[in-house]
Amino acid sequence: MPQNRRLTVLSGPSGVGKSTVVAELRRSHPEVWLSVSVTTRKPRPGETHGVEYFFADDAEFDRMVAAGELLEWAEFAGNRYGTPRAAVMEKLASGVPALLEIDLQGARQVRCSMAEALLVFLAPPSWEELERRLRGRGTEPPDVIARRLDVGRIEMAAEKEFDLTLVNTSVKDVCHRLIALMRRSSS
Ligand code: 5GP
Repeated sequence: MPQNRRLTVLSGPSGVGKSTVVAELRRSHPEVWLSVSVTTRKPRPGETHGVEYFFADDAEFDRMVAAGELLEWAEFAGNRYGTPRAAVMEKLASGVPALLEIDLQGARQVRCSMAEALLVFLAPPSWEELERRLRGRGTEPPDVIARRLDVGRIEMAAEKEFDLTLVNTSVKDVCHRLIALMRRSSS
């Protein structure tokens, strides 16, 4: 099996629950190596530099882009996010399966640069469920919600670009299936 196959990418529409899946994986499968992204967004309460993200300012992010240090990067909701290349390459070279949790733009870039990577689309149980999550608590103005729903519809259409889909009916179940896929694709 080619080395890059050991790279698994988990992506999907905004609001589908990717970060919840990753948090559960960290807890239940600490042996899985998860890439820690760099971001220009400010830390949220409870987030630790080097754990959920490496937090960087714009100048540092620019420097990393210019130096080719990012495997992929994208802008999302006014902030930039990228995958440090060296750590991923090091894991793959030593035969350790690696997992990236990134947005759809990033997944497309990985598809282009690492054709053997396994791209997994995390889908909501139904459009209605995603719609409910995107509407949030209903505190956002109608135009913001309408824009989120438009983006959500476009993002759902990206499913066909992926190798396979996992439906997020239960976080634990998604983790089990993801681990099984990673084991299969690296053996
Ligand atoms: P959040 O700010 O909520 O943690 O993440 C926002 C979005 O950025 C999520 O869709 C997440 O998947 C995406 N993201 C996190 N890290 C990366 C990365 O390294 N590259 C890309 N392209 N997207 C990322």
